[in-house]
Amino acid sequence: ETIGDCLDRICARWPERDALISRHQGLRYTWAELHAEVERVARGLLAMGIERGDRVGIWAPNRAEWTLIQYATAKIGVVLVNLNPSYRGHELAYALKQSGAATLIFQSRFKASDYVAILEELFPEAREARGRDGIHNAALPDLRRLICFEAEDALPGMLNWQDVLSGADSVPVETLGELQASLTFDDPINIQYTSGTTGAPKGATLSHHNILNNGFFVAERMNLSEHDKLVMPVPLYHCFGMVMGNLGCLTHGAAIVYPEAGFDPLATLQAVSEESATAMFGVPTMFIAELEHPRFAEFDLTSLRTGTMAGSICPIEVMRQVIERMHMREVTIAYGMTETSPVSLQTTREAPLDKRVSTVGTLHPHLEIKIIDPDSGRVVPVGEKGELCTRGYSVMLGYWNNPEATAKAIDAGRWMHTGDLATLDEDGYVTIVGRIKDMIIRGGENIYPREIEDFLYTHPAVSDVQVIGVPDERYGEEVMAWVKLKEGEQLDEPALKAFCQGRIAHFKVPRYIKFVEEFPMTVTGKIQKFKMREAATQELG
Ligand code: ATP
Ligand code: MG
Repeated sequence: ETIGDCLDRICARWPERDALISRHQGLRYTWAELHAEVERVARGLLAMGIERGDRVGIWAPNRAEWTLIQYATAKIGVVLVNLNPSYRGHELAYALKQSGAATLIFQSRFKASDYVAILEELFPEAREARGRDGIHNAALPDLRRLICFEAEDALPGMLNWQDVLSGADSVPVETLGELQASLTFDDPINIQYTSGTTGAPKGATLSHHNILNNGFFVAERMNLSEHDKLVMPVPLYHCFGMVMGNLGCLTHGAAIVYPEAGFDPLATLQAVSEESATAMFGVPTMFIAELEHPRFAEFDLTSLRTGTMAGSICPIEVMRQVIERMHMREVTIAYGMTETSPVSLQTTREAPLDKRVSTVGTLHPHLEIKIIDPDSGRVVPVGEKGELCTRGYSVMLGYWNNPEATAKAIDAGRWMHTGDLATLDEDGYVTIVGRIKDMIIRGGENIYPREIEDFLYTHPAVSDVQVIGVPDERYGEEVMAWVKLKEGEQLDEPALKAFCQGRIAHFKVPRYIKFVEEFPMTVTGKIQKFKMREAATQELG
């Protein structure tokens, strides 16, 4: 089955039920309405001359049209290139060039960024162009169409969303049906860029088969059905949003709710209570922001049953609070990466509570994992730390147009090397220890930031904490903690160090403690430790 086939099947089965609710736009679609809109967009794209195999970039925060485009491109075999809404000119140009996109669909502005101005800099003649094909940039020879959602903000050389919709009638529905029937599920359908947590984002090429199945299995672990409504504050440009969220709901006929364009804790809490949502997604930093929101207590969250926390290490204490204070008694933790569609491990509601809060659960169906010594490549004994490797249907086709990087990530046996350190226990539960790149080696001792982070979280004044290694002449590396305090709380360095004494090994007690308001973060809410290390190394001289 392709994504288009799945959409047709679900829409025919539950035409009257809610499919998609974009609250900040005031838009609501049933499955029948969604189906009609998707087909209209698909025919509109065809009318513009966009063809199977072309790449179409989308550069916008969460909104209903994002999803219409996701499904419309899947129906016509176009490869959707998801562009991070926080990209600026050079990052955008890099991804557009790298993917060879001929079309870019974008929102005119988001937060402080004026996307039209950014594009005008790349395509200066867009302002004067009178024809509809006036844009040109020698460095981006493939790009021919710029389509702005907001007609009133578009420059003369740009097209707009109405142009897409109004062309639809010129393409017969039968043409669309024939095209869809000719697609195969192994076709590439997406170039998804990774979060850029450890450096420049990489474009993973994924097929219908990769992501549709993965969305299905993620939702299976949450026991989603057509009776569920999932609130999704995670960005659509990321696999967490577009696969786990959109395709998880699509495969099970559940409704998806976008509270806001970007993440907003208040809008998310409001969406849950006003929509009587049964499920919610988030990365740990989002759940923390919601739990600590001053108006948290005003919202009735008792409709919640399940959801997923993923994306980075999920602190045990945060998981416990999500279960107790947010009523998400069946909440799951998922582990994955863009390159594996994304999820390979996830907890279940049946597992014992301690496993559900401290591990990333057990393997998904039809996949394999192994944990190896990264130097020798040999599988390590049960309980020992090593690099996690994944194999199976979910492994990407490869990095787009980058065979060298693909060969480094996927070995001859088709194992994806994740770069994450993990342990596997007797019962098959996996614990993520951290990223290989983030491990601290102090005087020959391996220190895992996660252990210290989990410990420091237990201090009642601490809201969030991140631990990194910084260069040290004597030990090679020293431990540094960045600490965010809860509102109104006070704590100083000696007091926090005293809290550590006798409770964790002396060499794990952070040598440096820095109190901060924010961490450097990706828009997905992931903390970029490489940026913290850069800043700290400079400060320490
Ligand atoms: P980049 O590859 O560009 O540096 P990234 O690895 O963060 O960014 P993603 O593909 O979005 O990009 O994220 C995958 C990574 O997120 C995993 O390799 C892992 O390090 C981390 N991760 C995901 N889920 C979990 C989880 N539940 N617990 C711990 N870490 C997780
Ligand atoms: Mg990665």
